[in-house]
Amino acid sequence: MDFSLFNFTIQFFYCLIFAPMKKAGILGGGQLGRMLLQEAANYPVETWVMENDASCPAAHLCHHFIKGDITNFDDVYNFGKNLDVLTIEIESVNEDALEKLESEGVSVFPKPATLRIIKNKILQKQFYQQQEIPTSDFIITQNAEDLQQHASFLPAVHKLATGGYDGRGVQIIKTTEDITKGFDAPAVLEKMVDIKKEIAVMIAVNKAGETAIYSPVDMVFDQHLNLLSYQMSPATLPEKLLWKAEAIALKVVKELKSPGIFAVELFTDFDDKVWVNETAPRVHNSGHHSIEACYSSQFDMLWRVLLDYPLGNTDHIMPAALVNILGAEGFTGPAIYEGLNEILAMDNVFVHLYGKTDTKPGRKMGHITILSNEKQELLHKANQIKHTLFVKSK
Ligand code: ADP
Repeated sequence: MDFSLFNFTIQFFYCLIFAPMKKAGILGGGQLGRMLLQEAANYPVETWVMENDASCPAAHLCHHFIKGDITNFDDVYNFGKNLDVLTIEIESVNEDALEKLESEGVSVFPKPATLRIIKNKILQKQFYQQQEIPTSDFIITQNAEDLQQHASFLPAVHKLATGGYDGRGVQIIKTTEDITKGFDAPAVLEKMVDIKKEIAVMIAVNKAGETAIYSPVDMVFDQHLNLLSYQMSPATLPEKLLWKAEAIALKVVKELKSPGIFAVELFTDFDDKVWVNETAPRVHNSGHHSIEACYSSQFDMLWRVLLDYPLGNTDHIMPAALVNILGAEGFTGPAIYEGLNEILAMDNVFVHLYGKTDTKPGRKMGHITILSNEKQELLHKANQIKHTLFVKSK
């Protein structure tokens, strides 16, 4: 045996026996990436993050931070080409680069083809329609003039095809007077659902197509900011509705045909119908409670999928409520957390701050999870927290 062959053989068996650290990249460096990295510390993985802002929430928790534009082909391709596995913490990434990386053997979860469907609300709605997944009726509009033709479809909700996030890019159009508020760009005009409840179901899918489903979560929204106000899990739902919601959410992820973790957001109406609103192909705000409330959190679960380990246990240890910590109205600049001492003194209350130096009104600065077997206690503490903790600035 010549020396190079001998060397290769030794390295090959070394790899087989010792399973070297996998190299994993996360596109985006916000709080989702940060919490994913907190879990990475428990796994044999070397982590990379790419984001434009070197002081982003995830920058200091990864092994390697790369400053770059996640929407730029070359930046994404160069970031990923020497990695084993890539994931995202935001949808607005360059999927052409991800497709090329996938074709060259990098595992990309969610798959770029799945990401393409989800990233564009027109394609996403058409996907539900093709798969016969219940979702509200819709019309595709190309511009403001086009929208004007559809007054008979109102009341409806106008949603930008691409670029919308956290309520931006969504406009409720109840009457013809509101029609000028619509978008002058490709969008979906959805029939307004008479919403009784908004719920979310998180589901993980591994490479073999096996799934692990978390209990549905009740989401209660702040009408003013159009942001989640608090959430409760498990959701309080009649058994039949629970089964329906879980079956529909499972169908969504099965048809998306990709490993990863998914948040399926659903509405229930007053006729007990269940409608899919939208799906996110990543860890999600509606799964944050799982850090303390479930045996395997959404972040732990995603590492299991990315590194090809068995799926975790999604069962609840205890019911939970979750409150987002948002920047208070009227304050912009370096963040000060008023009332933090009082919150940290509370029992079974878990504070997560995202490490964002500056606050602004409505900005997600952190979240708080409360555990209790008593729903009343969850509600009481959630309320208390909302009236105690304020993110301000000097
Ligand atoms: P984003 O992705 O920006 O959060 P969503 O599509 O989730 O946008 O919409 C934001 C909110 O608008 C939803 O949580 C819901 O309250 C309301 N909404 C969205 N679609 C509809 C609909 N078809 N009918 C009634 N309300 C809707």
